[in-house]
Amino acid sequence: MEKLVLILGGNLGDREKLIVEAKKNLQLKLGSIVSESKIYETAAWGGASEGNYLNQVLILETDLEPLYILQVIQSIEQSLGRERIQKWGNRTMDIDILYLGNQIIKEPQLIVPHPYISERKFVLVPLVDVWPDFIHPIHQLSHVQLLQQLNDDLDVLEFIASS
Ligand code: ADP
Ligand code: MG
Repeated sequence: MEKLVLILGGNLGDREKLIVEAKKNLQLKLGSIVSESKIYETAAWGGASEGNYLNQVLILETDLEPLYILQVIQSIEQSLGRERIQKWGNRTMDIDILYLGNQIIKEPQLIVPHPYISERKFVLVPLVDVWPDFIHPIHQLSHVQLLQQLNDDLDVLEFIASS
């Protein structure tokens, strides 16, 4: 089994409920969730988005192929109301593949490790929760080290779930 690390995020609709639904679907279709970060709230990054995002990182165990995993996460995004209107725009649910074990994948439609990991605090903060000492297969630095060297002063705040 490989460890599949995903980040979920959304800034529209009932953000908490959408995360719960996404996790149910992911477990059914990809494999069991073995670890979860806290949920964090972050201001929109880089695009034309309006509301704050909730983000959570998950670790699953799976034997499935990377391009099949991508298809599954895209179908879950769609079933949760995602419309692909603009890159980095508002969305109900975005699911990105951060890592699949130590694999390095460079397909036209799939790049793993996800290229934005080392640049975004809202990704590194939950990664430090779930796997602080994992060594990024390209940068050869741990998540703790990557977070220390990052110049990103956006607030990434722990979100206290309502239920
Ligand atoms: P965003 O960059 O904001 O996540 P989308 O979710 O619309 O935007 O994704 C755009 C495309 O990124 C997808 O169609 C997918 O083929 C591609 N992609 C490349 N690498 C990855 C990855 N590691 N995880 C998820 N999608 C990826
Ligand atoms: Mg995406």
